[in-house]
Amino acid sequence: MKDIDLRFETLALHGNGAQNEAHNAIRFPVYSGVAFDFDRAEDMELAFTYRKPAHAYSRITNPTVDHFEKKLTLLEDGLGTIALSSGMAALSTTLLALLQQGDSIVASKHLFGNTYSLLKETLTPFGVETRFVDIRNPEEVEKAVDPTTRILLLETITNPQMVVPDFNEIAEIARQHGVVVMVDGTVTTPYLFKAKDFGAHLVLHSTTKYISGGATSVGGAVVDLGTYDWRRNPALTKYHKYGQGAFLARLRMEVHRNFGSCMAPQSAYLQTLGLETLFLRVKTSCENSLRIAGFLQQRGEVIKVNYPGLAESSFHELARRQFNGGYGGVLSFELGSKEEAFRFINKLKLIRRATNINDNKTLIIHPASTIFSDCSPEEREQMDVPDTLIRLSVGIENVRDLINDISQALDNLKL
Ligand SMILES: *Cc1c(COP(=O)(O)O)cnc(C)c1O
Repeated sequence: MKDIDLRFETLALHGNGAQNEAHNAIRFPVYSGVAFDFDRAEDMELAFTYRKPAHAYSRITNPTVDHFEKKLTLLEDGLGTIALSSGMAALSTTLLALLQQGDSIVASKHLFGNTYSLLKETLTPFGVETRFVDIRNPEEVEKAVDPTTRILLLETITNPQMVVPDFNEIAEIARQHGVVVMVDGTVTTPYLFKAKDFGAHLVLHSTTKYISGGATSVGGAVVDLGTYDWRRNPALTKYHKYGQGAFLARLRMEVHRNFGSCMAPQSAYLQTLGLETLFLRVKTSCENSLRIAGFLQQRGEVIKVNYPGLAESSFHELARRQFNGGYGGVLSFELGSKEEAFRFINKLKLIRRATNINDNKTLIIHPASTIFSDCSPEEREQMDVPDTLIRLSVGIENVRDLINDISQALDNLKL
């Protein structure tokens, strides 16, 4: 298998990378236990000093989690992956591994709400400053970078604004300043977006979303794409001896180990299943999204539709060029007022009112009053989250049933 060149779909199913399963089980099992036996004290010493890979304790590594990590590494064409208990755990431990007091981050002002809060509320008191920029404006991005800047953080398609960055432009700024490009690729997954081909150094996923296979479990992962020279990062000085592996070494052996936010083996099992069918689900939800976006555009009640799949979208060209034939499974649109948005949401009969995205089922939410309710009205305006905005995460149902539901809710808007 190792020497044949396989495509994404086949790799997702057959790609292993992990050692053979003890009983040759086709489906890698759940090793739900905690500790692993060693033959000799010498072997324990080798394992604990990281000179010979071996599972010792499930908080640090576990065979089922390892299997999931290796599959994701193959799909991203990366150097290595560490799976964590959630997307937020992947983000927070990655930042903690790469930053020291006095460092700064330059981040897109269009970010997942909790990521924004992590940067702004949680990290600031520890002496890590984040400058939020409009990622569409390269001069603004470049101006925000200074010698303390270690990381440029952005998302592949932001939600609910649906902004798509020009990754080549960002990568060029990062290259000139020696900064790490850290991409949250949750909504595109390695199936739609090959971060490595667009100058990213690290790609993060909330595997809770698409990868989990349909909201089966919470999880996260960070993939080192093997493209950054970690000798440039002062927080990794002690780990420079690991060369290209310096970041993964510090995360695995220190930060991840000490913070303890490991992925549960049961979750890794479910998420490995999710990876196998990822391409099917992503494809269908993207096709459904495009159809729904087109339908919404034609309705008079709808003021504006944000979806990079639409030819009218200012991000269409970028999305077409950077993503693998799909435009994501999330879209947003505006109605005339907050009251209309609420009435529309309440009239839906099939689509669920829930906060997740990239589930198999279609979900709807009013972002300003929920996910962004922590933010002041000024912050919401800054982040382009108006009161009139609705976010739809499109599942894999028959699209005619979804359009019928949306249509009847719009018909009844004034009633
Ligand atoms: C959901 C999400 C996260 C956080 O992931 P959790 O698994 O919920 O912790 C981070 N980034 C993006 C883009 C997300 O959609």
